[in-house]
Amino acid sequence: MQGPIESARVGIALTHEHLLIDFTTVLTEPAAASQRGLMSEPVSPENLWWVRYNWTSNVDNLQLLDEETAISEATEFFRAGGSTMVDVTSVGIGRDPMALLRISRATGLNVVMGSGYYIDKTHSEWLRAASVDEIADSIIRDIDEGVDGTGIRAGIIGEIGCSWPWTDSERKVLEAAVAAQSATGAPLLIHPGRNENAPLELLAAADRWGGDLRRTVMGHIERTIYDRGILAEVAATGAYLNYDLFGHDESHYPLAPESYMPADHERIEQIEYLLGEGRNSQVLMAHDVCSKHRLKQYGGHGFDHIATRIVPRMRARGISEEDIRMVMVDNPTRMLTFKGAHPGTVEPGILPTHRLKRVNKGLEI
Ligand SMILES: [Zn+2]
Repeated sequence: MQGPIESARVGIALTHEHLLIDFTTVLTEPAAASQRGLMSEPVSPENLWWVRYNWTSNVDNLQLLDEETAISEATEFFRAGGSTMVDVTSVGIGRDPMALLRISRATGLNVVMGSGYYIDKTHSEWLRAASVDEIADSIIRDIDEGVDGTGIRAGIIGEIGCSWPWTDSERKVLEAAVAAQSATGAPLLIHPGRNENAPLELLAAADRWGGDLRRTVMGHIERTIYDRGILAEVAATGAYLNYDLFGHDESHYPLAPESYMPADHERIEQIEYLLGEGRNSQVLMAHDVCSKHRLKQYGGHGFDHIATRIVPRMRARGISEEDIRMVMVDNPTRMLTFKGAHPGTVEPGILPTHRLKRVNKGLEI
């Protein structure tokens, strides 16, 4: 039911998504009395104008709980040529191994499941009391044996949530995640706090704890780093740089109102800069879908946005086919391959139910 797949079957991959998630941990209650009612309304055509701008202030918008919706939305990615989706819904925001397996079966996509723990606000009593070793063991079990007796194994450690400032509990979790990376050879994916210094601080700590930065993905680069000098420093660590918020094409960023969310063209420009600096083998791309307003059924861009609309824009700007293939296929494949895996295989966490039946060759990139 689960286990390694051949590297050649990873194909076009999205490296940070959420097929199902309860993201209400970021709920931002509107202060104005006239808007408080909107917080608890279901997302509808009547309130979508408000939800799109205030996407963290509506409970329903932050809950992707319906499997059938996830299947139809993920199928759009498959139809656009996609093969693999990395679902880094970690413990604390609703990870659901059995549902991921069913979605993988229904869509024909390889789904790589995450392990580990999201930001401090979601940490359980157990997690706060646990030692580094105990937390590391819980992650190693997810990878070696599977989650809670399901036999469904994680294929990546993440997303490991870190706030700014970095909390003690999050620090302990990252140390455990690094230990689990060393023990298993799995890739590690980090969600940094919203501060330009956060990625370097986190990577320096991971390095101190013996982490393998070349097998580590720093997430949300575009909403974290605006300065090219800092970007160059982070790139110099050797970590993967995930441009994983494609489709967020509005500048208002309710989680950091003093800052802004870059538009897709700015993401492409940053990627062009990195390609020009010879960092081709470190760039990854995804949408980090975590709310209804980004799904097509709710007027959003959907999971095929990068494949259908961003890749052609990259081509039009002169980015080479080799570089596009490296970012969309080769880098995710290398990133997902466990250290010490049999040559030519990615192990273990891809749910390969359909891997022999339906290999997607729909899009040549
Ligand atoms: Zn995420």
